[in-house]
Amino acid sequence: MVKQEIDFEEERREILRRYRGLLRVCHRSRTSKDKARIRKAFEISVNAHKDMRRKSGEPYIYHPLAVAKIAAEEIGLDTTSIVCALLHDTVEDTDITLDDIQNLFGKKERVIIDGLTKISGFADYNSNTSDQAENFRKMLLTLSDDVRVILIKLADRLHNMRTLDHMKREKQLKIASETLFMYAPLAHRLGLYNMKTELEDLSLKFKDPETYEDIVNKLQKTQAVRTRFINQFTLPIRRALDKIGSKYDIKSRTKSIYSIWNKIVKKGVPFEEIYDVFAIRIILDTESDNEKSDCWRVYSIVTDFYQPSPERLRDWISIPKSSGYESLHTTVMSPTGKWVEVQIRSTRMDDLAEKGFAAHWKYKDSPDTPENKLDKWLQQVREVLESPEESAIDFIDNFKLSLFSEEIYVFTPNGDLKTLPVGATALDFGFLIHSQIGSQCIGAKVNFKLVPISHKLRSGDQVEILTSKKQRPKEDWLSIVVTASARQKIRDALREERKQIADEGKEMLRRRFNAIKAEWLSANIDELVKYYDTDTTIELYYRIAKGKIDLTRLKGFILEAGRIRFEKKEEIAKTETEVKTVVGPPAKGETLLIGDDQHKMEYKLAPCCNPIPGDEVFGFITINEGIKIHRTSCPNAQELMSKYAYRVIKARWRNKDTVQFEVGLKFAGIDDVGIVQNITNIISTDMNVNMRSISFEANDGIFQGKVMVLVHDTMHLNQLMDKLKAVTGVLTVDRIESEFS
Ligand code: MN
Repeated sequence: MVKQEIDFEEERREILRRYRGLLRVCHRSRTSKDKARIRKAFEISVNAHKDMRRKSGEPYIYHPLAVAKIAAEEIGLDTTSIVCALLHDTVEDTDITLDDIQNLFGKKERVIIDGLTKISGFADYNSNTSDQAENFRKMLLTLSDDVRVILIKLADRLHNMRTLDHMKREKQLKIASETLFMYAPLAHRLGLYNMKTELEDLSLKFKDPETYEDIVNKLQKTQAVRTRFINQFTLPIRRALDKIGSKYDIKSRTKSIYSIWNKIVKKGVPFEEIYDVFAIRIILDTESDNEKSDCWRVYSIVTDFYQPSPERLRDWISIPKSSGYESLHTTVMSPTGKWVEVQIRSTRMDDLAEKGFAAHWKYKDSPDTPENKLDKWLQQVREVLESPEESAIDFIDNFKLSLFSEEIYVFTPNGDLKTLPVGATALDFGFLIHSQIGSQCIGAKVNFKLVPISHKLRSGDQVEILTSKKQRPKEDWLSIVVTASARQKIRDALREERKQIADEGKEMLRRRFNAIKAEWLSANIDELVKYYDTDTTIELYYRIAKGKIDLTRLKGFILEAGRIRFEKKEEIAKTETEVKTVVGPPAKGETLLIGDDQHKMEYKLAPCCNPIPGDEVFGFITINEGIKIHRTSCPNAQELMSKYAYRVIKARWRNKDTVQFEVGLKFAGIDDVGIVQNITNIISTDMNVNMRSISFEANDGIFQGKVMVLVHDTMHLNQLMDKLKAVTGVLTVDRIESEFS
């Protein structure tokens, strides 16, 4: 490196020049107290960074000064933010500590600088996506402390992008992609449109320098053509405006380099078709009371000369966009046969549109009609920035940020960023990664903590899905997921599983047909479908496989030359009445007391849902097996109650039952030494439960277990389940609905 002579005296003068430049744009820091704080921060920062230089060779203090200037001028931030911007790199890069900051300035400054330091500095970046993701995660988490952190960080990033020339190539690429990925969209959502455009253009400049230069050159070459066109186009408008004595300014802007690049690269549109697409903007210097009518007057003038396209009139003056954008847009036909967009707005509207709330300090009483949540948030930020600092601090302290209120951002263990809707669960995330991972999901680790599949994710969570080869999608998963794609995948899997089970049922039926010498004819199957009222043959097979249609009791049919025919409906009805008389159920409206011998009724507990005392139940009169007791939550309940309401009777458990009921429980969790011991201990000693059988299987560090226990009622059962769920490593504890599941 060539040793350069440095004129320290000149540098000192330049630093002071830049400092005074900063003071000139600190519009919010008007009191002498504010000015004293800024001076103090400046002096401390100059001193702390005095021996440091940037990669360009310049004194390091130029950077914090520039960041503070952007914060004040382009974002419109307050004294505290300017102080923090000046000090933003001191804790990370110099001897100054957070305690020093707190002692010298205060708690608020400490919190902000701590946040800025946590969003790890751009100087020590390694090139991989997980850093990016981790950084973004930290940033989102820090947001809840103080929103100024993110605004100062944006200023920091903008200055780093403006001075990226001196960095190594790979660092340029890294920082440029990161800017495009996170900071430009963030600036956009915060209403900092100019900053967003500049960040995008600068990112492109470093990511794809050739294309960038190419577009810049082409824009320069075509500048004269555009200027001539604009002059001709606006001439009659200018004359008319001058005639009525309007104060105005006419600007024209081509698309940003980045958006032209986007069109060329992503949409395949040639430059020649884009370069002359631009908007002409007529900005009226007018009193805010008249701005609406004045804008419409200009509209009338424009359309006197050019034919407007009626469907392309946009009135964002009467109803501003949700982002607060106000403007009147029309698209008119030029004499050369080209459509030209004309934007009409007041100086105030133009300032707000370009600078977001940075411009807001000038216009205290601008009409804002916030519509979405982000806009409300922005509105709050604006209010904060305009209100005296004490109340602003109170406000920010109580402030819970919901910047990304519609979506959450979560991370894979590798740090890849994934977007999900609010309310999405670990199971949604599993299906987002891969349908197989979703299908085999038994739980997840969120920020290294075990959670069930139904756990709702939050922005910034890092999620690892735990799977088991034994796991299958379940019907109730449909109520756990919120994303349409996960729901679809679960439905597909359930349908597939149902089909497989139905195939088994079909085979069972085929064997049964052989045994009774019935022919395998579609007419015979149809007869069964009709008799069992199953809608489809698949459903018939499925119910046979599930044991819901008992083939050994396939009787009451007539077999003629291999063809099955059932008795007529009336006869079936007659059989049912007989059943009723034999069993003698309670009269209509009466309730069956289960565990009560008075009725001398035969009842059985239905195997499909295994009711136990405490469960909400009902009785169902079956044709051959007397009354069966089902849980109201039984998968079959809805069908039984809707189709055979006349066979349903009310039932409840008799109080104080000494009888014990057998219940199956299944677990899943992380295999851990001693976990089996812990579980069996709880069941047999802690809870005084009679254990019938227990089985465990471990696979890939995940265990699954089944245990059959005797309990008195649901309360007893719930206590047991709660205790088991509390065992370290146990992820899920569920009651086994029936032997089939
Ligand atoms: Mn910095």
